[in-house]
Amino acid sequence: MTGIEGLPMAVREPGLPQRVRIHEVGARDGLQNEKSVVPVEVKAEFVRRLADAGLTTIEATSFVHPKWVPQLADAEQLFPLVRGLGVRLPVLVPNERGLDRALALGAREVAVFASATESFAKANLNRTVDEALAMFEPVVIRAVEQGLKVRGYLSMCFGDPWEGAVPIEQVVRVSRRLVDMGCDELSLGDTIGVATPGHVSALLTALNEAGVPTGTIAVHFHDTYGQALSNTLAALRHGVSVVDASAGGLGGCPYAKSATGNLATEDLVWMLHGLGIETGVDLGRLTATSAWMADRLGRPSPSRTVRALSHKE
Ligand code: MG
Repeated sequence: MTGIEGLPMAVREPGLPQRVRIHEVGARDGLQNEKSVVPVEVKAEFVRRLADAGLTTIEATSFVHPKWVPQLADAEQLFPLVRGLGVRLPVLVPNERGLDRALALGAREVAVFASATESFAKANLNRTVDEALAMFEPVVIRAVEQGLKVRGYLSMCFGDPWEGAVPIEQVVRVSRRLVDMGCDELSLGDTIGVATPGHVSALLTALNEAGVPTGTIAVHFHDTYGQALSNTLAALRHGVSVVDASAGGLGGCPYAKSATGNLATEDLVWMLHGLGIETGVDLGRLTATSAWMADRLGRPSPSRTVRALSHKE
């Protein structure tokens, strides 16, 4: 049942966080898999509109080598266009060269991207898990010395397309390494979208037992099997209050066969507002932004909420 004017009815569930910070990944994780290169002006406009819609953390781009991700080769052009928006603008840095580029442009938040599995570390970084951690360590240490906030992404935390189920102890080990080297936030990625809520709770409990507090944990779910919101709710019940999502559900994982990928920010906001949890996001503006971006990309948003609200108009 829809509430008035395209808003869900808010009914609080006791014990959930009062407020959730959405880490918006559409401009980076969403666009990086787009084959046709989106003009830098369009990306800047996208980020501006996301900020206008009330998102306070917008992952802008990536300072990986342009050869690996041509879509984000314009990081040097894009960042100056958006850095005055007054929102947090984390950027991905794979190595010290990437960190140098990000620092030169005045980035204040960076993220490194590790893998919980050997197969994905090999496929994504052409390194073993430990070799990749060794590559990130000096990056994280220097970033912390410079006073930057550092997020550690961890891919394949629940399942891996080559290895199957990923043992919780393996995820805990790499998580601890990222926290120990200085990451102040850990984003647990369900890169192929195979997690289910009990698995989420078990991993979060194991991380707490290993000394990783819930306050440093963010979750990054993919909706491949329609579980992203169920998994998010399990994380909220555990006390997690930072959730990654992508406007309009942009993006996916190149290693997952299904076209569906990132949890759509609109679907997340609908649930959070329905639970009476504050996000600061204006759902109408956000939906309009995703509809606008879908027009630029030439195909409709996969987000159920974007579709439902667009059909109402
Ligand atoms: Mg993702």
